[in-house]
Formats: sequence, C-alpha cells, structure tokens
Amino acid sequence: MLNHRSMAKRANGTGRSPYQRPNDTRDRLFRQQTIRRPTAISGVGIHTGRETNLRILPAPPGAGICFRRTDAGNIEVPADLGSVSSLELATTLGRDDVTVSTVEHLLAAVYILGLDNLVVEMDGPEVPILDGSAMPYLLLLQAAGVRPQNANRQILAITSVVEIDRGDKWLRASPYPGLRLDYTIDFEGCAVGRQRLQIDVDTRSFERGLAPARTFCRQMDVEQMQRAGLGLGGSVDNCIVFDEHGAVNTDLRFVDEPVRHKALDAVGDFTLLGAPIWGHFEILRGGHQLHYELLGELVANPRSWTWMRGDELPPQTDRPLGSDQPATWLPGFAAPSP
Ligand SMILES: [Zn+2]
Repeated sequence: MLNHRSMAKRANGTGRSPYQRPNDTRDRLFRQQTIRRPTAISGVGIHTGRETNLRILPAPPGAGICFRRTDAGNIEVPADLGSVSSLELATTLGRDDVTVSTVEHLLAAVYILGLDNLVVEMDGPEVPILDGSAMPYLLLLQAAGVRPQNANRQILAITSVVEIDRGDKWLRASPYPGLRLDYTIDFEGCAVGRQRLQIDVDTRSFERGLAPARTFCRQMDVEQMQRAGLGLGGSVDNCIVFDEHGAVNTDLRFVDEPVRHKALDAVGDFTLLGAPIWGHFEILRGGHQLHYELLGELVANPRSWTWMRGDELPPQTDRPLGSDQPATWLPGFAAPSP
C-alpha cells in the first residue's frame, strides 16, 4: 500500500524552538505531546475474539505512534499510511506478517488529545473493543495525563478542494480552519437508514458527541461476518445490532449513534497521516476504505494542502479556536461562509 513515512516524519520534525507559554492554545496545537505516565487496559478484540493486554507508554519527540507486538518478537508497526494492510470492517496495520487490527477507536482518542508520540504494546493481534466506542480510551489517556514535549508539530491544512467519487460513495475535502465533518450514511435493510451529522471536531465536541458512539452492524450481516471469521468477539456489550425496526440488543446513546460512530472512525483513520488535519470533509457513505483513499489522494496531491507551523502564526491568533472563529489569516484560507 502507500508508502510515505517521510510525510509523517516531517510532521513530527523537531528542530524549532519550543514555545515559552506551556498552556496556551497555540502551544497545544503546535507542540508535540505524549502521555505523562504509562497506562494499561485489557479486553477482547471484536473480530478475532482474542483477549489482548494493551500497555500505552510515553515516547520521545519525533517517535510518532507505534504499535509493538510483544508476543511476536517485539515487532513494531508504525501507525501510518504505509502500514495499512487491510480495511475490511476495521483498520488493520501490519509489517511483514505481523498485524494489529481495529486500531481506529484508540487512534481517535489519541488524535483528539493531541498525542503525537506513544508506544502501544500489545500481546495479541487486535486492539480491545471494550464497549465498542472510543470513550474508554479517551478516559484512559486523559487519566494518564498529557505532557507537552520540546518539539514542534505541524498541521496538515487543506488549501484546495479534493474530491473522490466512487459512484455511490463520495468525499470532498475543502479548506477549513479546524476539523469539520459532514458525514452521511445510508444503510438499507435496517433501521439505521439515512443519517447525517455535521460537527466541528474538537476535544469538547468529540467527548460529548463522538467518543461514546458505539460500533454497529446489521443483523442480516452478523452470520455472514462470522462465517468469514470476523466479528468473533462481537457481543451485546460492544456492538449495536440493528434489524429493520431498531436496535435489537441495547438502548441507543444517541438517536443517530451510527453516523456518530462513522465520524469517530474517520477521526481515527485520519490519525494515520501522522499530523492533525484541518479541513471540511463532506463524506457520503464513507468507511475505512474511503477515508484511506482520501489520505492517499492527499499524499498524491501535495499542492492541495500545506504544512502549518506554530511559529508562522501571528500573535492575534493566540486564542481558542472554534467554529465561530474563522481564521482568515491562514495561508490559502478564506473565512468559511456561515
Ligand atoms: Zn469503528
């Protein structure tokens, strides 16, 4: 698959002086971060059904996010696009024949906390599904604490429209001062149906609106999935099953929980760029494959985006960024229309 480790490396590049004020917004956006202390969690993988123990450790600046299979000769699999080995139902990374699968919910929590450098040790092939959402990982990493590091990070900012048209699946990325998702799903044959979510993704909106949203599937697909050797760890505790009338096994956390989960998956998959991404992403019938194709398209079209560095920002931008604060100062950006 794609090989562009240099891109992630560049995003994590060190060498510029760190900012003096450790708590301001600019610092959080443009300084690399890791966790303060190691943390751990265990659980089954939804597709393999295997119990896996996971330890998350701080890592030095520039290291990036890396999975380490302690049960397979400590082989390391970096969380980047070059490592993607399968996108069927979950995002799987691999090196040689050692894989780590279903990385997306953990990575979504990593993304939103602005963590750049971590080692994730695993003694099995799949990240635990836990309750099927990103919430347990968000709480785990928040409890471990976030530590700024003495190295700059860069943000990959979309500067011109990128469109991917795959017939019934479609995606468009356009410039935006932040991460904005406009996600539409359309599942026939079950109560999920068509759902649309528009959200400015920041720590707060993610915690409230995306992190709790759980994995889901259609009842008609469960048997087929298990025949294919997937979904073996799926249960009422970690996956919402929909038939044509509604959720059959659990109460919903949101009426539109499925589309919220898809948006969560997108945040997790975007983490594979190795840098935060700014843009407005309109996604129709998306999934891991389409998210991945977008990232591939960005790699192939470096003129559609630019690296933003903290030391390029004028002082007046030193304030919290949100949907109501169009950043007209950004290179290539116009203020978004209301
Ligand atoms: Zn998911």
